[in-house]
Amino acid sequence: MSFERGNREIPYGRQSITAEDIQAVVDVLKAPFLTQGPKIAEFEKALAARCGVPYAVAVASATGGLHIAYEAAGLGSGKRLWTSPNTFVASANCALYCGAEVEFVDIDPKTYNMSVARLSEKLEGAARSGALPDIVVPVHFSGQPCDLEEIRTLSRKYGFKVVEDAAHALGADYRGSMVGSCAYSDLTVMSFHPVKMVTTGEGGAILTRSSEFYEKLLRLRSHGITRDPARMKSLSLGPWYYEQIDLGYHYRITDMQAALGLSQLKRLDQFIERRRALAKRYYSLLEGLPVVLPFQQTNQESSWHLYVIRLLSDRLKWTHRQVFEALRARGIGVNLHYYPVPLQPYYRDLGFKAGMFPEAERYASEAITLPLYYELSDEEQDYVAATLKDVLLQAERGS
Ligand SMILES: *Cc1c(COP(=O)(O)O)cnc(C)c1O
Repeated sequence: MSFERGNREIPYGRQSITAEDIQAVVDVLKAPFLTQGPKIAEFEKALAARCGVPYAVAVASATGGLHIAYEAAGLGSGKRLWTSPNTFVASANCALYCGAEVEFVDIDPKTYNMSVARLSEKLEGAARSGALPDIVVPVHFSGQPCDLEEIRTLSRKYGFKVVEDAAHALGADYRGSMVGSCAYSDLTVMSFHPVKMVTTGEGGAILTRSSEFYEKLLRLRSHGITRDPARMKSLSLGPWYYEQIDLGYHYRITDMQAALGLSQLKRLDQFIERRRALAKRYYSLLEGLPVVLPFQQTNQESSWHLYVIRLLSDRLKWTHRQVFEALRARGIGVNLHYYPVPLQPYYRDLGFKAGMFPEAERYASEAITLPLYYELSDEEQDYVAATLKDVLLQAERGS
C-alpha cells in the first residue's frame, strides 16, 4: 500500500480551508466592522440563492437556529414537538428550551431517517387522545433527505408545522428541489460546524419562505430588538432609538464567520461532488464484507455528510464495541451517529426507556461512521477499506 499513515488518525470528518478562505477572514479583520458588517447579509443572500428560498437568517450555531426556529413557529409551554431519536441532542433540546414537550418517532430501518409509517400511526393515536404535535422535525440523517412530501401531506391533515433539521444536508436534493428550499416545510436549519458541508467555525442558518417568520427570526437573533419604525409601539425618541418588542437572544454570527462561509459556499459544488465520489468508491471497496452499506432512495441525492455502515452482527463473533476499538486502535477515527437521544440520561429522567424505539436502538448497536470528507484522499480511503476488511475478518473468526 502506497499510503503511509504514520501516527495520524484519519478522522471521520474535517473542514477544508484554502488560502482564499483565510484571506476572506483577514480582509474582515482589517475592515471597520468585525461583527455586524456587510458580510452577513451577503452570506445570507448567497445561501438563500443556493437553496432556492427567499429568506436566510445566519446565526451563531444551528442549535441557536433550531431554538429560534421552534419559537418563531409557535413552540412554547404546553406545546409538543416530535423528532427522530437518531439525531444530535440539539434537535430535541431546543424544544425543551421553549418549555415544550418532546416525543420521538422511531426510524426507518433502511434509511435511518424518521419513519413516515411510524409517524402516521403515531399521529392517528395522538389525534384520538388529543395530543397532536405542534411541530414535527425531520432530520435529514447523513445528508439523505427525509420523505418530505409525505410528511407535508400529514402536516396538512393534522395541522402541525414542519421544521427541517438539515444540519447534514446542505447541497442535497430532493425530488428536484434543493434541501433548504422549504418547498415542503415552514423552516429549515443548517449547521456550519467544521465537520458539516461548509464551515464558518461555529455557525448556522435558518431558511424560510415566510416574510413573517423571517422578521421574527431577525428579532429573536438579537435580543428581540427592532429598529423598524413600522413595528415600534411608540414614536421614535431620537436617532438612537430602538425598541425591544420580544424576549430575544444573542445568537448573532460575526462578519468574520460570514466571510468564511461566503468563501466556502463557492466551493459547495466541489465539496458535494467529491463526497459523492468517495461514497461511490466505498460502495465498491466494501462490497462483500459482512456489513450493510447505506441504502439510498431514488429521485433524490444525498450530500453525504456521513457514510454509515451497519455490522451484520449474526456473522461476527466480535461485538460492535470490539470492532469499533480495533478500528480506532489502527488509526481510523470511526464514530457513532447517533446513540439514541431518548436514551441519554437527561431524557431517561424525563421517562424515556430502552425498548421504546427499537429500530433506533438496534441501529445504534450496529452502526459505524467511516471517514468521509472533502480532503480524504483515495489512498487514505483505500487504507480505511483495507483495515476494515482486515478487522472484520478477525471479527468473523473471533481471533
Ligand atoms: C451538528 C448538528 C446540530 C447542531 O449544530 P451546531 O451548529 O453545532 O449547533 C443539530 N442537529 C444535527 C442533526 C447536527 O448534526
